[in-house]
Amino acid sequence: MPRAASTKTRLFFVAALSLFATFPVLTRAEGTVSDATRNAMLHVVAHEIGHAVLREFDLPILGPEEGIADDFATLYIYSLLPDRAEAIIRAHARQSMSDGQDAMMFGEHPSDDQRAGRAICILYGQNPDQFAKLASDFGLDGEEADACRDFAPEIARSWRRTLAPYLMPDSARVTEVGLRVAEDPVLQALATQAFVNDLYKLMASIDWHSRITLELDQCNGTASWARNGRRIRICSAYVQRFEAQLGSE
Ligand SMILES: [Zn+2]
Repeated sequence: MPRAASTKTRLFFVAALSLFATFPVLTRAEGTVSDATRNAMLHVVAHEIGHAVLREFDLPILGPEEGIADDFATLYIYSLLPDRAEAIIRAHARQSMSDGQDAMMFGEHPSDDQRAGRAICILYGQNPDQFAKLASDFGLDGEEADACRDFAPEIARSWRRTLAPYLMPDSARVTEVGLRVAEDPVLQALATQAFVNDLYKLMASIDWHSRITLELDQCNGTASWARNGRRIRICSAYVQRFEAQLGSE
């Protein structure tokens, strides 16, 4: 599998968008990671950005943080990548349903089916006409669909108002985001230039006060946000799991 560089890791995100835009196109072995995996991973990264936003800006956490971060992710994706939000939520929902974990009685996470359903519900409620097929494909109808149309815009409004002071103005120079991709075949295949551009958009749309780094790392875990070091970490094993679940569909 061809590698683009011999260094252990590479720093992709640079200080200014203009510099980023001229960063050379990376030559990678593409095709071993599907677009569905990339799409589902974008929701994962947005979820971890949600944790980072809550913690970095000391926002009130008035409910289960995992659920708050999930809703943030869905709405943030819809806000920044509106044309691709449906594909991203479909991939996220399929991956969650494939995981299929039940909720624990005292756990912070809802069941994986509920997490999938929630993302579909929240996106559908933003524009019921646009996302009618998404809803029907996953069996969201009747009173449940009515409820999504009712409360999903309220959650979007709450996030709009909460997030407004922390959004990066288009004209501002981005200095506080970084990305490192480990020299790992799966991660290298994942991180196409288009995917790196998407990650940059998600990371750089918040006006962070200190540097936040996204690390695609060679490890056996899943995904996490570490306040200590201000690091979002996505493990290669997690990408492989997504690809096994979504890659053949
Ligand atoms: Zn989380």
